[in-house]
Amino acid sequence: MSKKHTERHEMNRRQFLERLGLGSATAFSLMALEPLQVMATPRTAMSVLGDDAPEGQQMTYRVQNGTGEKISLLGFGMMRLPREQEKVNELVDYALANGVNYFDTAPIYGGGSNETATGLALSRHPRDKYYVATKMSNQNESLWPLEKSKEMYENSFRKLQVDYIDYYLLHSVGGGGMDNLRGRFIDNGLLDFLLEERKAGRIRHLGFSYHGDVKVFDWLLDNHDKYHWDFVQIQMNYRDWQHAGGRGRRRGDANAEYLYGRLEKLGIQCVIMEPLRGGGLANVSDDIRLQMARARKDDTPAQWAFRWVGSHPDVLTALSGMNRMEHLKENLATFSPLMPCTTVENELLARIADKMTGLPTIGCTTCAYCMPCKYGVDIPGNFAFYNKAVTEGRLPLPDSSAPDFEEKRKAYLEAYRAAIPTAARATKCQDCGECLKKCPQELPIPTHMSRLVEMTRKK
Ligand code: SF4
Ligand code: SF4
Repeated sequence: MSKKHTERHEMNRRQFLERLGLGSATAFSLMALEPLQVMATPRTAMSVLGDDAPEGQQMTYRVQNGTGEKISLLGFGMMRLPREQEKVNELVDYALANGVNYFDTAPIYGGGSNETATGLALSRHPRDKYYVATKMSNQNESLWPLEKSKEMYENSFRKLQVDYIDYYLLHSVGGGGMDNLRGRFIDNGLLDFLLEERKAGRIRHLGFSYHGDVKVFDWLLDNHDKYHWDFVQIQMNYRDWQHAGGRGRRRGDANAEYLYGRLEKLGIQCVIMEPLRGGGLANVSDDIRLQMARARKDDTPAQWAFRWVGSHPDVLTALSGMNRMEHLKENLATFSPLMPCTTVENELLARIADKMTGLPTIGCTTCAYCMPCKYGVDIPGNFAFYNKAVTEGRLPLPDSSAPDFEEKRKAYLEAYRAAIPTAARATKCQDCGECLKKCPQELPIPTHMSRLVEMTRKK
């Protein structure tokens, strides 16, 4: 992280803490800043606290530019919900009661059932108590004709049981480049239709979620004067801030620093996905855990990652997929209120990110868009197992001539067999390529599968 950037964060932290009534706590660090830098701080967002909860347990909110609506900095990613509706209701009720008011779903989540489950849970509450985000998930070419896409759009209203959608996104633009964007949204007149729907008030805020070819991201922002994006959803975490590319990742990945920086200049607030990078930042190696504990002993690695994301003033909300009550409670503790990272903490996380970049992890976010595999391979399960082994230092590689290689290989294989059933292992991959076009991270999935198989072979 650059010096300029960390200084800017420190200033943002000061402003943030002042709004929390804790400004004097940072008086010393503030004195170290030059007056010109303080004046030059760009800021388009404001943080406020919820009113109802006891002091110290109040959710942090961000104020939506233009409307003044208070959006909880912790957003509920609904993608991986429990199967039982009662459990979904219980999570949603608890989240709402504790200040979470942003819920993110999509027509393709949960095999098509996620919007319905979200609608069932949310519609039991007054409509003005929550903001719901859903998307135009017309990635499949058969849905590109305008009438087909409109059908998906209308279904979202029916399933969510609403007559307006608070946040509507062009889902996962960037994969497939400009041709894909034109086919899905421009040439068929769909974006024009959605702009009209925003004018009519059925869409309150229009934005897009971005993965992939940065030319698409740039083109959409270059045309901000025409489209007036209300928000943009990006993948951002301390690891991908300056290291989004690299081993195991697709070519041409844009760093989050670039994405956030462009949005910040335009005054567009962001919704953050993958603050934990598919869970990888919650499962860090023992030495990283130790470094974190030395700096802040009670925080988990996940709390560090969330605090880092939430410290950015133009983040409207950070999405977390919370399918278990303990995750929800831990996240609520982190965001109620959110204590922004200090300069020193930012620097520690930047060093940790540098260290992580040297590790050969696979950039899988476990989103499961690639599933099902017709040969039964549990693609996210295999990659998650491998990544955990990397971050925990249990990988037999890179040195197969090392004296402990065989011992490590056996231990790795044993753990792999215990975690992944025979029918779902990497060995079942037939290299059919079906999953390639479905992965928003554009991972070379079959190549990684053969690497996984190769790694467990005796040398
Ligand atoms: S390439 Fe392999 S993992 Fe992907 S769908 Fe085909 S068999 Fe499954
Ligand atoms: S391989 Fe790609 S599509 Fe599949 S879970 Fe990982 S990131 Fe998602």
